[in-house]
Amino acid sequence: MGGGLGASVLARAMAERGTRILVVEREERFRDRVRGEALAPWGVAEAKRLGIHELLATRCGSELRGWNIFFGGGSAPFIARDLVETTPQRAGWLTFYHPAMQELLLEAAAAAGAEVRRGARVVEVRPGQPPRVQVETDGRSEEVEARLVVGADGRGSMVRRAGRFTVAQDPDHLLFAGVLFENLPAPSDAVYHAINPGLGRVALLFPQRGERVRAYVGCHKDTLERRLQGAASLGRFIEESVRSGVPAEFYTRAREAGPLATFDGAETWVEHPYRDGVALVGDAAATSDPTWGQGMSLTLRDVRVLRDALLATDDWNAAGHAYAAEHDGYFARVHRTDSWFTDIFMDVGAAADARRDRALPLLAQDPSRICDVPHSGPEAPCDEAARRRFYGED
Ligand SMILES: Cc1cc2nc3c(=O)[nH]c(=O)nc-3n(C[C@H](O)[C@H](O)[C@H](O)COP(=O)(O)OP(=O)(O)OC[C@H]3O[C@@H](n4cnc5c(N)ncnc54)[C@H](O)[C@@H]3O)c2cc1C
Repeated sequence: MGGGLGASVLARAMAERGTRILVVEREERFRDRVRGEALAPWGVAEAKRLGIHELLATRCGSELRGWNIFFGGGSAPFIARDLVETTPQRAGWLTFYHPAMQELLLEAAAAAGAEVRRGARVVEVRPGQPPRVQVETDGRSEEVEARLVVGADGRGSMVRRAGRFTVAQDPDHLLFAGVLFENLPAPSDAVYHAINPGLGRVALLFPQRGERVRAYVGCHKDTLERRLQGAASLGRFIEESVRSGVPAEFYTRAREAGPLATFDGAETWVEHPYRDGVALVGDAAATSDPTWGQGMSLTLRDVRVLRDALLATDDWNAAGHAYAAEHDGYFARVHRTDSWFTDIFMDVGAAADARRDRALPLLAQDPSRICDVPHSGPEAPCDEAARRRFYGED
């Protein structure tokens, strides 16, 4: 249910192995919803294992092999990293325009044999053996029975709600805003990551094809009076980017090429995202804080783990539980380490400043102290020893 990254990649992977698949996507045409447009190196590795990397790389993607962090408005990078040289995946971040990626992967699912219905909405889900869904198309309602229903319908998932999954949520903390620009002269081969920790501000520039740049601003919610929302907020978005440390001259000729929107950073998740014939994947299973760019990599991990569980046995109830148990493990590691990055780079107040006074000089001296989960994935060290190294408490 849904036709985003999670649904289309799972549909393709299962259809090409002969499973009968129905994809239900409410949008007739994808538009810019201000979503993820940069896939971390560990997500690139997942894309390779799922057989979609070449398609993305040749048809809509660009690789950014550098990751440059600028601190407090400085013009020399605090850290300049070549990710192809230094990640276990030997890959940079792959950027693309999200609607183009969605169209491409949904076409690929259809080409592999999945039945794809656009302009159709899931309006009801009844878990059970077998599970059933109610689908509305052009005012007509139809009940569909399936061996497995997969909710891949994003952060506001109706499958999650109708399936009566319990949702856990972190306290509100960060806000994250994004907009697409043209004529913004950021270096085209690296991510520009400006952090102003004292102000609880971060700005990220991800250059993509067509000489466009996806720009984000993240901030602590206590430091922003009003959300950055709509064209009228564009001037404030640029001001906040500059306060984060992006050079003002980058915006002299920049022109917006899509909507501006702000999202809550608080992570939401379902423990054990499978019950009674219904599995959740991607943002429906766990929405991670976009500030740290892990959502699409997690989505592809979900798809790969669920695919492999389903292909390993005819007992799809057992496969659903096996997927959910594994999901809990890797999501917990990403979730935990996201909160470390928030503590060190985004939190505000005296305690946060004291934490940074201890940690930042050590991180500058030895960048290997920075937890590498956001680039290398949940298998990178993230135990208590890794936390102490990151916080400078060892
Ligand atoms: C501002 C922002 C920045 C981000 N930046 C990054 C980043 O840099 N890197 C990264 O990895 N991730 C990032 N993310 C997260 C990333 O966008 C998501 O993790 C990813 O899109 C999740 O994919 P999905 O397939 O689970 O859900 P979605 O992409 O949301 O797809 C869900 C689909 O389901 C459809 N749908 C919903 N309800 C129904 C219904 N009832 N019936 C039929 N169809 C339905 C929707 O139309 C949609 O096409 C960011 C997110 C935000 C908000």
